[in-house]
Amino acid sequence: MKTLFQKIADGEIPAKFVYKDDFCAAINDINPQAPTHVLLFPIEPIERLEKAEGRHAELLGHMMLCVPKIAEKCGLKDGFRVVINNGVQAGETVPHLHIHILGGRSLHWPPG
Ligand code: 5GP
Repeated sequence: MKTLFQKIADGEIPAKFVYKDDFCAAINDINPQAPTHVLLFPIEPIERLEKAEGRHAELLGHMMLCVPKIAEKCGLKDGFRVVINNGVQAGETVPHLHIHILGGRSLHWPPG
């Protein structure tokens, strides 16, 4: 069965892409926690970070390099935060690896 993000990537659930290439896609979060809250996910459905394998190294590196490009596209010139929630205790709700890109306001540390 396809994950939510696979359905979005395949156009089965409509979404406006902030960014998309052959390997990953980015959309605005439906429940934003900051003025800018983007979700960047691989098209290939890796369940969560702990399930990533050596063969995913290039894909994960590519995604990390996409992050600052997306942040710049979103106008986050004063900074941004990158978050991956891995597992229930971390707050993961969608079992398809994704990187949260948050910005547009001061972000506190430590996070809640
Ligand atoms: P997680 O909690 O797994 O780290 O992040 C999942 C994120 O997906 C949440 O921030 C949630 O608001 C977002 N989300 C859940 N369903 C949808 C949806 O249908 N569309 C979009 N754009 N975001 C979603």
